[in-house]
Amino acid sequence: MRRNWVEQMGQNPLLLPPQVQAGNGSAAISKLLTERSITERLPTRELARHQAAALSDLARHAATYSPHFIRRLASAGLTPQSLAEPGALTRLPPLTRRELVGAGDALFCTAYPSGHGEHSTTSTSGSTGEPVTVRRTSLSELQWLVYTLREHLWHDRDFSGRLAAVRANISQPADTPDWGPPCSLFFLTGSWSGRPASWSVQELCRWLGEYDPSSLLVLPSTLAGIVAELDRTGQRLPQLRWIRTLSETVTSHLREEVRRVLGVGIDDIYTSQECGVMATQCPEHGSYHVSETILLEVVDAAGQPCSVGEIGRILVTDLVNYLTPLVRYEIGDYAEVGGPCPCGRGLPTIRRFLGRERNLVLLPDGTRHWPVVGFHRWGDVHDIRQFQFIQLDRQTILAKMSAPSRPAPEQEARLTTIIQEELQHPFAIRYEWQEEPLPRGPGGKFEEFLCRAE
Ligand SMILES: [Zn+2]
Repeated sequence: MRRNWVEQMGQNPLLLPPQVQAGNGSAAISKLLTERSITERLPTRELARHQAAALSDLARHAATYSPHFIRRLASAGLTPQSLAEPGALTRLPPLTRRELVGAGDALFCTAYPSGHGEHSTTSTSGSTGEPVTVRRTSLSELQWLVYTLREHLWHDRDFSGRLAAVRANISQPADTPDWGPPCSLFFLTGSWSGRPASWSVQELCRWLGEYDPSSLLVLPSTLAGIVAELDRTGQRLPQLRWIRTLSETVTSHLREEVRRVLGVGIDDIYTSQECGVMATQCPEHGSYHVSETILLEVVDAAGQPCSVGEIGRILVTDLVNYLTPLVRYEIGDYAEVGGPCPCGRGLPTIRRFLGRERNLVLLPDGTRHWPVVGFHRWGDVHDIRQFQFIQLDRQTILAKMSAPSRPAPEQEARLTTIIQEELQHPFAIRYEWQEEPLPRGPGGKFEEFLCRAE
């Protein structure tokens, strides 16, 4: 898969020389973080010039090693050189999630620079209930760590306190004496405690009360449940100073409720499994700054760039993933374009993101928890391209599925077993099958799990 990297990557500050790229150790993070402290202050036009050069490098690579990208470029009448010319990128039709899935292995590059390290595979249902699988390299992971650490530094966080995390990817309760990388590589941190998002809101509130964290990392839907419960019981978290959220849309209502009940704000991070940390909130002005190695276009229904204040579809290009060419990838979210930020950072801004929203699932005993539906297990049973769940009452869930064909009754029964196991209750699952994509709500909102039960 990997080949020796002999080509000079030039003096582009967005890309590190190969000897620094290998590994995710503190030396590589430190070096890249120093670079980022410079690139975040570059004038927007100069940053764009470096990004165009990085795009040209990426396109040249993908046009050699990705059969799917070769076809995409050719059908648009473009070459790797012409793609990076001013205004040319808009001539390349977006890469939809459906096209990404349909491309199969032809999407992935058959080789990538050895300096980009090891590779891994990640699956996600993304923002629209449409599962996709992409491959990433250690260099992609390195960006993730660097932008995470930079976000902490921007917000001047105190690392000595206790960090509580509620995540979908935590399967068992876990406690460690430090926060783990990247923070613990550079700072003496306090302890870390993680709990599965599948825990009920009541269990999470009990644990938070005992742990009394100074910092909380949580999904917005879970946070909404926690804040409602704390509001109801009068319980407070006296040490809490920071809340970070990721993976779902943060509404202005949630920000207000968190401020009212807990007296702190939310620092949201716009991330995806496919592209890592794409934008983080400005510590001074609240808008989101787009990461240097991400091109984030916002386009209207006609595919034209949106102006400041307009809301449109997001097309994202990951400039460092040389294994899965995500160029103008239609990730499924919407965004409102921001203007220049008075903080002095030249990074483009987004005022707000509109994407996946979820409710918590409500169990018959009145408890609520984050809904895990087990989409990663469905592929063994049936080819399902998109899903949306609506909980109708405390015993019944409507599963809207988009698929090229209808499954046989025994396949449906197997799906039901998986969903019941993952949701931790034997709900009656009613299916609606269709070939067409599922519709979105106003402003691009997609409600992956909607709870109408009370
Ligand atoms: Zn700013």
